[in-house]
Amino acid sequence: MNEKKTVLFTLTGEGDDVKIGEAGRIIREGGLVAFPTETVYGLGGSAYFPGAAAKIYAAKGRPSDNPLIVHVSDPREAEDFAVVPDAYRRLAERFMPGPLTVVLEKKDVIDRSVTGGLDTVAVRCPDHPAARALIKAAGCPIAAPSANRSGSPSPTCAAHVMADLSGRIDAVIDGGECRIGVESTVISLDGDGGCTVLRPGGVTAEMLARAVGAVRVAGAVTDPALCGDKPLSPGMKYKHYSPKATVVAFDGTDGEMIDAANSDPRESVGVITSDKNAGALRRALLSVGEDSEDAFCHAFFSLLRRADEEGLGVVYVRLPPKTGKYLALYNRLIRASGGKITKAKES
Ligand code: AMP
Ligand code: MG
Repeated sequence: MNEKKTVLFTLTGEGDDVKIGEAGRIIREGGLVAFPTETVYGLGGSAYFPGAAAKIYAAKGRPSDNPLIVHVSDPREAEDFAVVPDAYRRLAERFMPGPLTVVLEKKDVIDRSVTGGLDTVAVRCPDHPAARALIKAAGCPIAAPSANRSGSPSPTCAAHVMADLSGRIDAVIDGGECRIGVESTVISLDGDGGCTVLRPGGVTAEMLARAVGAVRVAGAVTDPALCGDKPLSPGMKYKHYSPKATVVAFDGTDGEMIDAANSDPRESVGVITSDKNAGALRRALLSVGEDSEDAFCHAFFSLLRRADEEGLGVVYVRLPPKTGKYLALYNRLIRASGGKITKAKES
């Protein structure tokens, strides 16, 4: 790939309209701009411009059968390119803008290069003012996967994007740190009015159940063995979120994990955990701060990158419960560990 100069538009509160207007023009003319959302940074290209999707796949090094999410500035814009059932409207009313992506039947205006060859298209309306302003400025829906090199942890600040994609894309909008830190919840709509969670995220299965009734969770969300050749959500079959360090997904209590890390014979060992465990730990602490699902989701990808920056060879993370937003962390963690779960030794 030919190196190009990647322009950085830093949002400061002054002249932001001009910067976002310029970024929108780049997208409208077929270029690529990374932008902040409430989940992670996205790598955006026009969903309508021929060849823009191919450029996204090339910049990320992403397999082209792994579909892109199409971002809109208002959930009603989905009607321009997708068949919109009532269930979508009800969910949009409740959860959009927000970290929810809904898979719908696509219309012809969306090329299959955007949807990884599928007849369905994933739609999301981000809850971030810069993201929505960019879509409006571009004047078209924006196809965007996460703005990382394929396989590496998703980017939660502009520096992560620059580290992965500088020289490969036209511009990055720096809007600071992402609030949530893990990617959106992806769902498909089932004929009975319910839905299936294909990828867990900030809109939890419990929240969906209160809104739509029957909520199923695809097996591959918690079981890497089910990521076969024909997964429901194509992204599930790829190794993901992997830093250079070996990630140990630890099934046990905090205390058991700290003991295991402290006595691990390997040299450069770190532990992603909350501050409350700092006192007992004799290895590098990668702290998420307070002990909450929001804090873990917010910091997880960023700390995987920090582990590499600090030259750590092994990173322990405790497997969280499979409930609430922890389900998203559970899902990302078993992918980062390559599907391997390490159990506490029974004593
Ligand atoms: P990313 O933007 O990197 O988080 O990736 C978007 C993810 O959304 C993909 O990995 C897919 O698993 C999922 N996705 C996008 N479009 C579809 C679709 N039409 N059907 C099912 N899953 C989809
Ligand atoms: Mg991604």
